[in-house]
Amino acid sequence: MSVCQFTQLKTFNTFGISACAEHIDIANSVESLLALWQRAIKKHHPILLLGGGSNVLFTENFKGTVILNRILGVNIQQTDIEWYIHVGAGENWHELITYLFKQQIYGLENLALIPGNVGSAPIQNIGAYGVEFKDVCEYVDFVELKSGNLIRLTAKECQFAYRDSIFKHQYKNGYAITAVGLRLSKQWKPILTYGALAQLSQENITPKQIFDTVCEMRRNKLPDPVLMGNAGSFFKNPIVSIELACKIKSEYPNCPQYPHNEKSIKIAAGWLIEQCQLKGYSIGGAAIHTKQALVLINKGHATGQDVIDLAAYVYSKVAEKFNIFLEPEVRFIGSEGEIDAVECIS
Ligand SMILES: Cc1cc2nc3c(=O)[nH]c(=O)nc-3n(C[C@H](O)[C@H](O)[C@H](O)COP(=O)(O)OP(=O)(O)OC[C@H]3O[C@@H](n4cnc5c(N)ncnc54)[C@H](O)[C@@H]3O)c2cc1C
Repeated sequence: MSVCQFTQLKTFNTFGISACAEHIDIANSVESLLALWQRAIKKHHPILLLGGGSNVLFTENFKGTVILNRILGVNIQQTDIEWYIHVGAGENWHELITYLFKQQIYGLENLALIPGNVGSAPIQNIGAYGVEFKDVCEYVDFVELKSGNLIRLTAKECQFAYRDSIFKHQYKNGYAITAVGLRLSKQWKPILTYGALAQLSQENITPKQIFDTVCEMRRNKLPDPVLMGNAGSFFKNPIVSIELACKIKSEYPNCPQYPHNEKSIKIAAGWLIEQCQLKGYSIGGAAIHTKQALVLINKGHATGQDVIDLAAYVYSKVAEKFNIFLEPEVRFIGSEGEIDAVECIS
């Protein structure tokens, strides 16, 4: 990659990959977003929208304009039984949760410490510790950049699924999410189904205790991107047939499996990688985290290609041992825009 001073993307992606863009702009309103989009189109530039850069891998320099979405604002309304919160897409997700906590508005504590912007949360329907974005979403606002048309989709219309939504398909290119609407019940109910949360007692539990427990678990388990570049879980948990899940369970009784629907089961991708003895394995500047096999890290000077080579190695080892084909959760960005991550590693 060439040397670049003013358009370096290293600090705009949590993987800390050194890559350049032709141009980086900041949009702090829908109007500025549209103007920047038009300007890039006039220059015939490819365009990439970026929030916190915590779910992307730059595989090479980006030959176009990166627009950082920084549309801010939090508006809180209420009825007797619910909170309605309209949030600008450029707000930081975790800071939103802590801000709402100060107003004694609860319900997002299981999703604490997930990096990135509010506007990116619907795209992959972020989830952790038994809660997904879809559980709190009322609507998503976005703009068709070519026409400037503003569109609002209800949560149902967003077609949320495991790490998936309509924003990865029909509304993928040429659209920008500008705001989201959240709905939180005033009758707070703890969700204690996952990890160390399952050991907490339902009685007298407070939102703050859940928030603190989630933050502690995440700090213990996941490397802090500020200290060690990474993009969280690199692969999705694979969804496999019940037959294959049973076969694996009979050979490995401690394999973590979760019901998905009547026909399929979700298996922990991190466990599959661990069974291939890959913790700590490294290629170039990229490595598999020693504590959490699902996280690929940048040891300092990893290139996008190092990460691709390592992911391809993981993919082949897991396929060989379990006949399961992992799919990256991280979005791969090439010189002109997003590229097919599965194609890159298979
Ligand atoms: C340490 C760590 C832990 C993580 N843990 C979790 C977890 O527990 N659960 C989970 O679900 N995820 C997790 N992630 C992944 C990540 O935090 C989420 O996917 C997050 O929602 C990404 O937000 P972002 O703003 O950084 O998105 P970015 O990386 O900036 O963008 C992601 C994609 O969305 C597109 N995009 C960004 N903004 C817009 C917009 N306004 N309109 C349209 N498209 C847009 C981008 O072009 C890109 O394709 C983790 C990541 C890290 C680094």
